[in-house]
Formats: sequence, C-alpha cells, structure tokens
Amino acid sequence: MMRAAGDVRIEDVPDPAISEPTDVIIRVTRACVCGSDLWPYNSMAPSETGQSMGHEAIGVVEEIGADVRTVKRGDVVVMPFAISDGTCEFCREGLTTACVHVGFFGTDGMNGAQAEAVRVPYADGTLYPVPVGEDDPLMPSLLTLSDVMGTGHHAAVAAKVSPGKRVAVVGDGAVGLCGVIAAKRLGAEQIIILGRHPDRIVLARDFGATDVVSERGAEAVERVKELTGGYGANSVLECVGLEQAVETAIAIARPGGAVGRVGVPQHQAIPGAEPSFFGNVTVGGGPAPVRAYIDELLPDVLDGRIEPGRVFDRTVDLDGVPDGYRAMNDRESIKVMVTP
Ligand SMILES: [Zn+2]
Repeated sequence: MMRAAGDVRIEDVPDPAISEPTDVIIRVTRACVCGSDLWPYNSMAPSETGQSMGHEAIGVVEEIGADVRTVKRGDVVVMPFAISDGTCEFCREGLTTACVHVGFFGTDGMNGAQAEAVRVPYADGTLYPVPVGEDDPLMPSLLTLSDVMGTGHHAAVAAKVSPGKRVAVVGDGAVGLCGVIAAKRLGAEQIIILGRHPDRIVLARDFGATDVVSERGAEAVERVKELTGGYGANSVLECVGLEQAVETAIAIARPGGAVGRVGVPQHQAIPGAEPSFFGNVTVGGGPAPVRAYIDELLPDVLDGRIEPGRVFDRTVDLDGVPDGYRAMNDRESIKVMVTP
C-alpha cells in the first residue's frame, strides 16, 4: 500500500472477493516492483485511502465467477498489467490496452499485485494460463510477460525494428534491457544502448547490445550518429518517459526512422516537433498490449531462447517490498521480484 511519496507499507486488508461473474481471484505466487511504480514513489500526494500497488503478477487461480469459461481453478496464469475483455473491437485487433473495459491494476483504486491475492476482472480475456507448475525455474522470465518483456517488445514493434536495422535503446532499466532482447529477437544488426549503470550495461551486452553510449543530451546524440554512419538509428526505443529522453530519442532517429515510446510520459507535450517533422520520423507507442504479445513471446521463453527474467537481481517477501522500492529508486537494484 502506498500512502504518500516514499511511504510504502504492508497492511492487512480484507481478502479480495468475486464481485462480478467474470472475475477470478488469484493467489499471487510472483509479483514485482516496476520502474513506473517509482513515479508515484517520488511524487504521490498523501492519501487517506492509499493505493494498493503492483501490476505484474503470476498466480494460481483460486476462485472463479459464474461466467468464467476458459480459466480454471488451479491454473497458473500470467496477469498482464491491464484488464482486457478479449472480445471488443480493440482486443480483437490486438490492442488490448485500448479495451473498452480497460483498467490498470494498482491504480485508481484497483487492487494491486504486491499482495497475497488479487481480484482479476474479465478473467477470460485478461489472464493467460501457462503450461508450467507454480515453482517452475522459468518463473522470473514468465513474470516479465506481464509487463517489461511485452513492453520492450512493443517499443521495438512501434519503432519498426526488422532484420538488418540499426537500433538505439534509450534507457537501461528493465524495460530498456527487454527492448534490447526484443530488438535482437527481431533481427536488428546493431543495438546501441544509452545508459550509464555498469551492472545494467553488462546485462545489455549479454542480451545483444553491440554498442554503449553513456553520454547524455547533445553528446549522446553525437555519439549515436558517429556509431551509425552519421545519420542516426532506423529504430529508437524510448524506455524512460522523461522529456529529455524523448528529445534524445527523436534526435538520434535517422530521417525516415521511427521512435517507439513506452516510457510513461512525465510531461504533457512531446518534444522534438521540428526535428521529427523535418526528418519524417514516425513517433509511436503507448501502453503495450502485453496480453496480445504473449502468444508470440511465450514459446521463446519456454524454449530458453530469451531470458528476460535475468532483469531480476533481487527477491523479497511481502515485508521486503518497502525496501525493494528504495533499492530500485536508489538504483541499487534493476528490478525486484516479490514472492508473497
Ligand atoms: Zn476489449
């Protein structure tokens, strides 16, 4: 439960209960702290009610509503960060984060996954059963399908990564690192990571980054241009959300290139109107429809072809969650896994 900036507490709350016939209750077996949880951690106004936090989970289905058809009691399921009914126009188009019934776990009063149990609306559309036991060694990588791996993949898709392309990834957090995995998976020839934390850079290289740029601002733009034959990257994955990061992302895109934004924007206007216009740069992206991407990404996780679970470098129990926030906020940890 978050009650104000910097104030995360573990509190006893009533057990979640089925309230709609399309709901299920899952017992959370794995959850985690997201880089986007750090925005309220640094800025949330004090709240009497507080906000139950966490939007990434794997769990076991414990209770099912009367109208649930495909999810069964005992299923091990990935819980993507957004609710989707699976049947509306947008879900059928694969844009599950634009579902007409969309909602985001751990925001606006909706229950969060940094908990022992979660109520999941539209369970048939939202949850994705996976063919493994609840303690499978692949759990960390499967957990990333609830957000960061799907989000990194979405950045790559929005940035139009394809075989032979030169790619730049802005940000070395868990999403940026998953963006490196996604870019390599989609056949990028060159992958430049913009980041400065040594432990993250090591992992980025392991995941397929070919070059590292640790400068910022204008110097970073210069470096990327030098590394890309003078013109910039075909595809830029923006995985931060701060104005300067977006500005840099647009500035390092090659004319005719594309920027895929998945960092949650912390500003109102997209910078770079002139350079993106004169460079014919496509700027796209948004909340990743991770539910729709699981079909494509799950086989690679099950076969071990990708190992996004390596972004987790710390595991805590529920009591350790407040310190997990602190560790991620202090950049002591890349991403913290929670085992309730
Ligand atoms: Zn829908």
